[in-house]
Amino acid sequence: MARILAEETPQHIDQEVTVAGWVHAIRDHGKVLFIDLRDRSGLLQIVAGPWEKTAYEQLKSVGNEWVIQIEGKVVRRIERLINPDIVSGTVELQVKNVTVLNKSLVPPFEINNDTAGVEEEQRLQYRYLDLRTLRMHKHLIQRAKVVNFFRKTLSEAGFTEVETPLLTASTPEGARDYIVPTRLGKNQFYALPQSPQQYKQLLMVAGVERYFQIAKCLRDEDSRGDRQPEHTQLDIEMSFMTQNEILELVEELYKSMVLNLYPEKHFTADPWPHLSYAEVMEKYGTDKPDLRRDKNDPNELAFAWITDFPLFEYNDKEKRIEPMHHMFTMPRESDIPLLDTDPLKVTGQLYDMVCNGYELASGSIRIVDPAIQEKIFSIIGMDLKTAHSKFGHMLTAFQYGAPPHGGIAPGIDRTMMILENEPNIREVIAFPKTGEGRDPLMHAPGPVTAEQLAELNIKIG
Ligand code: ASP
Repeated sequence: MARILAEETPQHIDQEVTVAGWVHAIRDHGKVLFIDLRDRSGLLQIVAGPWEKTAYEQLKSVGNEWVIQIEGKVVRRIERLINPDIVSGTVELQVKNVTVLNKSLVPPFEINNDTAGVEEEQRLQYRYLDLRTLRMHKHLIQRAKVVNFFRKTLSEAGFTEVETPLLTASTPEGARDYIVPTRLGKNQFYALPQSPQQYKQLLMVAGVERYFQIAKCLRDEDSRGDRQPEHTQLDIEMSFMTQNEILELVEELYKSMVLNLYPEKHFTADPWPHLSYAEVMEKYGTDKPDLRRDKNDPNELAFAWITDFPLFEYNDKEKRIEPMHHMFTMPRESDIPLLDTDPLKVTGQLYDMVCNGYELASGSIRIVDPAIQEKIFSIIGMDLKTAHSKFGHMLTAFQYGAPPHGGIAPGIDRTMMILENEPNIREVIAFPKTGEGRDPLMHAPGPVTAEQLAELNIKIG
């Protein structure tokens, strides 16, 4: 008999079926034994008693998290025993036969309880068990649905999904690169991308016009609160679009995602407000204001667009001017003369999407004029020789008919954290690192062998 899922059992009342899964909970009431069986769809109550002696005895010996297969009869529950909290709550399964498919050690923490209170190191070390819990399992499923929704909707809107390389050269997003040694030669290193920024702009020169990618971005940042060394973003780039057209498209994408996948949620304002950087800094003292009316309402989403950021900021520690976002952002047309006279006064065609006090995305209209690009390099203190050796390919590409373009990159981890009302992004990432950037499951980062180092010509002190 083919196996069916817990959620399918209500369609099989009075029939014999086969189910399989994990022993989630055991309740022994003396003459009757109840087992909650868990599969990917949810829970099913199994009932066994001495009237089916062999199966009953067998089930009495199983432990939590054992993997079992059960043949039995689906019966309707009487009205007052219906459990609306589980997918099969209108029925239960009366056991006929039991097969133990595998045993389990006693788990280091309870799988049938929420693990939010369990020590994080332990949760990450046994992540495969942590992910079995109902809350974490739901996060994986919802995340996949959100990503699929983005994929489908963008593909239907004429976007092409393109994979860009993980082994690349340094990308300037303001953090440190992870560098990757190779046997290709002495002092030859790849860098892992901080974002596909340059590739996506080159794809615009290539005529793709509408690009997206579910992109891994790797940044070797100092461990700070909720940062992860790698995060996932919905990377988007478009040609022939104004700033407002880009914002509108992304707003529609997010709104329809929420409507379809989180219908219980509501927006504080619709359409989302556009607020300038100067306005929010003055009014809220932050560029990611929390605009919710009721911060205790788990279903309120206060999205807003923050626009008109300064193009540069002054790094007091290093005494130099830095790009606010990255160096490919286009100044406001009317501010271009200020680049020569007072660059810190220049406003960029730069925007952030914020929600409930978090920055969810950043993006900008890009520079396509090599002369402006060179000016930006010089303002941030990069001499032309260095600029050409690092970004000559961009300057060259822009001389072959680069279309006007811009883009944005909403963070998937933060999006999921907010939608699932979680306090940090580690709760919505399948295999995150700790706050200090370590992976207690795989033991990364870790040492490599002397042979590996020798092959790479690397000496460590
Ligand atoms: N590359 C930017 C980032 O990763 C996003 C963008 O400008 O489109 O934040």
